[in-house]
Amino acid sequence: MEYDAVVVGAGPGGLCCSLLLAKAGLKVLVLEKSDAVGGRTRLIEKDGFTFDRGPTFFHYPEIAEEIFQAIDLDVHEELALIRLDPSYRLIFGQGGHIDATTDIDSMVSQIERLSGPDDAKGFRRYVADNRRKLRLSKKCLNTPWKGPSDLISKRALRISRVLRPWRSVASDLSKSFKDERIQLAMSFQTKYLGMSPFHAPSLFTILAYLEYEYGIFHPEGGMGSITQKMARIAEGMGVEIRLSEPVEQILFEGRRATGVKSSKTTYRADRIVMNADFATGMRKMVPSSLRRKWSDRKIEEKSYSCSTFMLYLGVEHQYDTPHHQIYASADYEGNLRDISEHRVTWEDPSIYVQNACVTDPSLAPEGCSTLYVLVPITHAHSSIDWDSIKHEYRDIVISQMEKMGFHGVAEHIVSETIVTPDDWSSSDIYKGAVFSLAHGLDQMLWRRPQNHFEETQGLYLVGGGTHPGSGLPTIFESSRITSKMICAEMGIDPDWNGMDPWFDELKRPSLNPQ
Ligand SMILES: Cc1cc2nc3c(=O)[nH]c(=O)nc-3n(C[C@H](O)[C@H](O)[C@H](O)COP(=O)(O)OP(=O)(O)OC[C@H]3O[C@@H](n4cnc5c(N)ncnc54)[C@H](O)[C@@H]3O)c2cc1C
Repeated sequence: MEYDAVVVGAGPGGLCCSLLLAKAGLKVLVLEKSDAVGGRTRLIEKDGFTFDRGPTFFHYPEIAEEIFQAIDLDVHEELALIRLDPSYRLIFGQGGHIDATTDIDSMVSQIERLSGPDDAKGFRRYVADNRRKLRLSKKCLNTPWKGPSDLISKRALRISRVLRPWRSVASDLSKSFKDERIQLAMSFQTKYLGMSPFHAPSLFTILAYLEYEYGIFHPEGGMGSITQKMARIAEGMGVEIRLSEPVEQILFEGRRATGVKSSKTTYRADRIVMNADFATGMRKMVPSSLRRKWSDRKIEEKSYSCSTFMLYLGVEHQYDTPHHQIYASADYEGNLRDISEHRVTWEDPSIYVQNACVTDPSLAPEGCSTLYVLVPITHAHSSIDWDSIKHEYRDIVISQMEKMGFHGVAEHIVSETIVTPDDWSSSDIYKGAVFSLAHGLDQMLWRRPQNHFEETQGLYLVGGGTHPGSGLPTIFESSRITSKMICAEMGIDPDWNGMDPWFDELKRPSLNPQ
């Protein structure tokens, strides 16, 4: 069977790409290994409770807004996005808390109360500085990179002014804030990339800024409902989605991709889009004879993000706590060191709890709630045997929840699932590193696997393992970049309802209007 493009994986990256390609007039097939769409962004239904498997923060909606506009839809209506206020509560193990909000004046007074007038002024400076940083860095993140020669371009010069590659997020913030707690409030978001603020490049101070500027949203029905809806829309546009059909191999003639072999049959296509986890997908589906830069050994040697220890709890009780709460260990730095040095923090670990039913009661039976608990933890490593410690660790995590207002929670639990880094590993996530390759400067821009995979022709990548990186907004961006490159390669100038089908800083190829 022939298709213009076959997408391997129905995660948010694969689905988003299929929407844009279908709107450009391509015949698209999506093959998904599992029995449901969504990948890490899917729902888990158990004992009458509905949990998000992975993402819970829908942030920086701008990219999703543009992509939905390109297919003539409104993302806020389609995904029923509810703005949260406060966006989340951050509780400091050292004492005090902040209710993060887009109301900048409220933020300034909270910071002034907690840390004094200098840090409060520092916050206004931080917002202004990062507004500029986002404007300057956007074009580096929404345009593909091919190699170091791109560095001589105008955009590279522009980003070098804001990147400050010699500084980390933590050192950049220490210039604006004296109180370690406020530095933490503006930097813990590097966890979304699976990194410590002490290692993440200073560009990523924009992550907290994005929350203060654009807010955080909850899609009614949970984050997993987003991928379900995207799949339904894609099918309505003619995309074929086949579930429970894993791709075993990507087929090549020479270095050119020609199709895929699935568990059921062979499909021919000149463009293959891989959305499966980069490291696992490459090693399983692309012959090693075609990979030098990304050989199995080199993939193994790369740095990987952290993993997560998860509890999905159904409780016969309702807690009046904010939708999102983060508890930051009193020894935050020590906790981060444990993660990077492959140790488990037993004493006072940082944890995150989502109590989504305060916004969306549809996720649990009446009078009950779903609690999603995430502990950032080292990725799978031979030094930790999770099977032997997971129950003991679960007890530590449950007792930490007391510090966030979930009193006596253990007595109310009626449904419980534990997921460890080893479980993530066994669901095709390399080393259980749920946020994929780490995001140090040595693995970003042209040093990250490229959207048009550089060692072959006709093989494209989308998702957290390619440029610009992990996190839903950047994953959607990866799909947009890849879709533009595929259209250009086919000479198609799609009607994407005002969205430019090419990159304004790169030489435009000749395209035929659709
Ligand atoms: C616990 C957790 C919390 C997170 N929190 C957030 C958050 O709050 N906000 C945020 O923006 N991001 C968050 N993320 C990060 C990120 O947004 C998600 O992980 C996202 O789902 C990654 O999307 P993806 O498209 O890269 O791939 P995936 O979601 O992993 O999808 C890949 C798909 O490919 C399929 N596949 C694999 N192999 C094959 C094969 N051989 N053949 C066919 N199909 C295959 C898989 O089954 C899967 O469906 C979180 C991630 C995790 C795990």
